[in-house]
Amino acid sequence: MSEYDVLDMARRQLREAAQHLDMDEGLVEVLSRPQKQLVVNFPVVMDNGEVACFEGYRVQHNVSRGPSKGGLRYHPDVDLDETTALSMWMTWKCAVVNIPYGGAKGGVAVNVKRLSKRELEKLTRRFTTEISLLIGERSDIPAPDIGTNAEVMGWIMDTYSMQAGHTVPGVVTGKPIHLGGSEGRVEATGRGVIVTGIEACDHFGIEMEGARVAVQGFGNVGSVAARLAQDAGAKIIAISDHKGGLYNPKGLPIRQICQKYAKFDGGIHRFKDAEEITNEELLEVDCDILIPAAIAAQITEQNADRIKAKIIVEGANGPTTPEADRILSDKGILVVPDVLANAGGVVASYFEWVQDLQNFFWEEDEVNEKLSRILRNAYAGVHHTMMQHKTDMRTAAMIIGVKRVAEATFQRGIFP
Ligand code: NAD
Repeated sequence: MSEYDVLDMARRQLREAAQHLDMDEGLVEVLSRPQKQLVVNFPVVMDNGEVACFEGYRVQHNVSRGPSKGGLRYHPDVDLDETTALSMWMTWKCAVVNIPYGGAKGGVAVNVKRLSKRELEKLTRRFTTEISLLIGERSDIPAPDIGTNAEVMGWIMDTYSMQAGHTVPGVVTGKPIHLGGSEGRVEATGRGVIVTGIEACDHFGIEMEGARVAVQGFGNVGSVAARLAQDAGAKIIAISDHKGGLYNPKGLPIRQICQKYAKFDGGIHRFKDAEEITNEELLEVDCDILIPAAIAAQITEQNADRIKAKIIVEGANGPTTPEADRILSDKGILVVPDVLANAGGVVASYFEWVQDLQNFFWEEDEVNEKLSRILRNAYAGVHHTMMQHKTDMRTAAMIIGVKRVAEATFQRGIFP
């Protein structure tokens, strides 16, 4: 578990937004708790014949606006509190971009690097069976997150379909294209980071063309964001993964690094034409735009004062603590919050789900165009609320998200 209490962080963000909305205390209490939490313990026979036991989770935070949606994370630090916090953020995220979903999250506490592919598949199929009482194309739709990918989503779809007796592509998103995945889904989160980053640059009076960008995390989100930022004319001066980072004030050749090192997890530091830097140093480099795209609680009260970026676009979930948010705001640094900046993934997942339900598939240009339009509209709404409430962008996004969810929860009423 992270040394930061991310669930406390998520609840404090909710309370801050609730204060602006003058919300009923009972409703705040309802929204600060998850609707359902499932903890499962299950065995897997490993390749050496031994039985290993794993703990997994699926949490549904709120389903007032539609079926719940959220990724599955395979990582040793996964626990119930973190999964709950992430499910809350999913609820607000779906509401901020106004797609008809509630929030969920799930995961297994496991180090995937220690599993063979066969073990990973067995773990996934058994975990899917354990959480089958919650997931479903009309109830709760998982997607990839840290440690999971399209192949894992394909196994989930197949396992669920075997039990249903027919193919159910809409039970999970982020699948391979030929299994009902959507064009543009793999790049969607990184694309959304850059679409919202460009909007932020416009409002801040910075040109993306020539802007100096630093990206922490070189996985799905970070590597795509770096590549698309470079395509938009930015200079990527620093990148990192969990083993360390690279720095070159003249700019790094991102496509070349992606081609050479993307398949080696944790290998980018082997690239020669750059200075090696640590993850801590990366966050503090002199740049225009900083994109944290790795894990939570990276910008804290310990380092916020030393951040030199003018704009932070949060690719990761929860990379900035509330204490750091205050310091950054005092320094005049604009933070485009995770619930807006990394919502591209869930928007494209929504498109995938709609296509699966209709068995009618779109071309990539259509996906990218609709994705950009939704995110630009969401950005404009959050920016407007930020000005109206004279607050920071995270609180503004939370005000919009919490208001929409609170209204739906209130209007549906309390059963019975
Ligand atoms: P990923 O597993 O593909 O990549 C994660 C990257 O972070 C890797 O390069 C890894 O080496 C690096 N990393 C891990 N621990 C680190 C550390 N301590 N310091 C520095 N780097 C570290 O994961 P991803 O899908 O790119 O997700 C990254 C973040 O974006 C996560 O917070 C995830 O929740 C969030 N996110 C992902 C999506 C999506 O569609 N993939 C959508 C929304 C949000």
